Amino acid sequence: MSTSIIGFPRIGENRELKRATEKYWKKEIDQKELKETADQLKLKNWQKQADAGLSWISVGDFSFFDNLLDLANLLNIIPKRYQDLNQDALDTYFAQARGYQDDQASVKALPLKKWFNTNYHYLVPEIDDQTDIKVVGQQLFDDLDLAFQHHDQVKASLIGPYTLLKLAHFTGQKQAADFIQPVVAAYQEIFKRLNQYDLAWLQIDEPALVFDLSSADRERFIGLYKDILDQDHEFKVNLQTYFGDVRDIYSELLDLPFDGIGLDFIEGKETKRLVSEIGFPDDKVLFAGVVNGKNIWRNHYQSTLDLLKDLPVKDNLVISTSASLLHVPYNVDNEVDLDPTVKQHLSFAYQKLAELKDLYSLYHGQQSELAQSNQALFENIQHPADPAVTKRVADLTDQDFIRLPDRAEREVVQKQHFQLPELPTTTIGSFPQTKDVRQNRSRYRKGEISKAEYDQFIKDKIKRIIRWQEEAGFDVLVHGEYERNDMVEYFGENLEGFVFTKKAWVQSYGSRAVKPPIIWGDVSRKHPISVAASTYAQSLTDKPVKGMLTGPVTIFNWSFPREDISPKQSVTQIALAIQDEVLDLEEHGIHIIQIDEAALREKLPLRKTDWFSDYLDWAVPAFKLVHSQVQPTTQIHTHMCYSEFNDIIPAIDGLDADVISFEASRSDLSIIDELKANNFQTEVGPGVYDIHSPRIPTQAEIHGIIGKILAKLPVDKVWVNPDCGLKTRAEDEVFTSLENLVAAARQTRAELPRSKNYDPVSAL
Ligand code: GLN
Ligand code: ZN
Repeated sequence: MSTSIIGFPRIGENRELKRATEKYWKKEIDQKELKETADQLKLKNWQKQADAGLSWISVGDFSFFDNLLDLANLLNIIPKRYQDLNQDALDTYFAQARGYQDDQASVKALPLKKWFNTNYHYLVPEIDDQTDIKVVGQQLFDDLDLAFQHHDQVKASLIGPYTLLKLAHFTGQKQAADFIQPVVAAYQEIFKRLNQYDLAWLQIDEPALVFDLSSADRERFIGLYKDILDQDHEFKVNLQTYFGDVRDIYSELLDLPFDGIGLDFIEGKETKRLVSEIGFPDDKVLFAGVVNGKNIWRNHYQSTLDLLKDLPVKDNLVISTSASLLHVPYNVDNEVDLDPTVKQHLSFAYQKLAELKDLYSLYHGQQSELAQSNQALFENIQHPADPAVTKRVADLTDQDFIRLPDRAEREVVQKQHFQLPELPTTTIGSFPQTKDVRQNRSRYRKGEISKAEYDQFIKDKIKRIIRWQEEAGFDVLVHGEYERNDMVEYFGENLEGFVFTKKAWVQSYGSRAVKPPIIWGDVSRKHPISVAASTYAQSLTDKPVKGMLTGPVTIFNWSFPREDISPKQSVTQIALAIQDEVLDLEEHGIHIIQIDEAALREKLPLRKTDWFSDYLDWAVPAFKLVHSQVQPTTQIHTHMCYSEFNDIIPAIDGLDADVISFEASRSDLSIIDELKANNFQTEVGPGVYDIHSPRIPTQAEIHGIIGKILAKLPVDKVWVNPDCGLKTRAEDEVFTSLENLVAAARQTRAELPRSKNYDPVSAL
């Protein structure tokens, strides 16, 4: 029996990797220095794992940006436009991740998508008819060389071929089925290369097995692995799954010659049933994912032990995490300011390593005092309760969730009321958080400047950006969100019920990390949050200023939720708090209010059968509750950071917002066809400028995208906007891009046939 993890965070306990990578991008350090920083982080992680008594250290989970992009580059899945840049391997890799622009070349980045039901993003591998799949990458082998210099018990990990083919985007005639042979050959080649190491285990990650599988999916999986596992290998192979259970293929997995199978006992609703009813073969090792890889709460030892002892596996058992620890912060001990009554209940990556060790001891009947102190923790947990909040939730009736009059009627009233030109231009909310903005915030937090000075600085920023937007010719303005760093953190800090960390960063994509707040008690709004900033901005201009809020589902999904009440209860509490803010904004003269639901799609269950019952049935009403009480002339916008809602378009329309903006510029515009097919009623602003890349789109390019949108959607339904907030970008690139955006919208307007909404004056 042993202990193991699926993977470890890599951004660095103090975000060292983020800092080094961003310096490298700005050419402030060279590749050698970047790689040295990376190697130091790997060595530190491995040492931690070894010290914690894990049976093997984990190699292959490190990445400069994303593991799926690593795999694509290992296998030469690098679109020609990036190869043609003639850069070295790492720069070609970053070009795919971030886009590339110089005097001669300009290429967009690969699309970024959420990794299963997490807030981590992967880059979508792109395979065309010319893609020549073969092993060309070196990083995995370099990492193994480094690891074996210091350790001898090593597990390597790699994303598997099935998940690769499931998530890849095929742009030519050839489809996944046409690439089976070269993919199998490439994995066999990897096996051969790995044979040169004294590797204990190869962990092949196949999270795509937790989706609903068809019989064709099953056949593909079995076909791939029959051949790959045929290749001689001296290490053992663990087929690792996570984010759910493998009910559609469990028996088949047992029949394949894997040496180990990794199952998720936390999110896998059926995992326990599968193992106990169907059994588990004596000649395989079960990697039991029992320590939660996604939450931040302490493991309840007795329940975990009960579960482990019930399993029909004894010696061949590995106590493991349910997912890679990539999704949790590093170390609770770094939270020196956190209330100890809260802190004692928390467990981050380092603590989870210790929990694995404790569980191992307890399983073997040692150190039973560990179980007692653990039990005491759970008995004494006290989440702050607010009876008024509980009552308000309990008193809600169906009417509270319905906005009247219906949207079609509101649309007419609002067009009349706002008199916006066709194709109104707006942004998603935030403007670049320049150095002075971050400095001002940090000086205020350190007490170096007064609240009055801090507020004045923000006001000056708002004034400047209102003027800039007026000059640039935007139709609906924003105040710029200079007072917020992370939006969820900002709302959390201003609501009752949340607690905060200082260093609990979790990687979101590439060098970006977020610090999710922790929902600890009942949630309510005790004072106005955004009203001062929005009304100040509105006082400076005759154009409408859009109020900017974060929606309840996103606040919930981007926080670490409490687990003692249901998600529905938590999210309804948050919805009521945000409703208070919406009504306050409206009362103070803000008549366009955006309620961001950037993360609504993220927690959509991976299996269709669970979509409504486990999620949409409470998530959609929560959003509706937030805006159900506003006047017909108040226009409610929402924003989503993706366009993968093809399957839930009716649910998105069912949010009953007046306008929605979403990401579309990196991906193709096929979502528009789907909107049309579903008779989508909400007005839409598909992003026409990809803000996840430093690249500046030209007016012609944006004009082309607007043209494509208008070929499919009626002009009176379309808005023109970037695809997300601009806070992470640099001002010069943003300003030029936005000027091009407004110019493109105006150019399109001028080309439109005259219509009754068309105002030639403001179109000039
Ligand atoms: N209003 C937010 C912003 O502009 C939205 C951010 C997001 O969708 N992630 O920053
Ligand atoms: Zn967004």
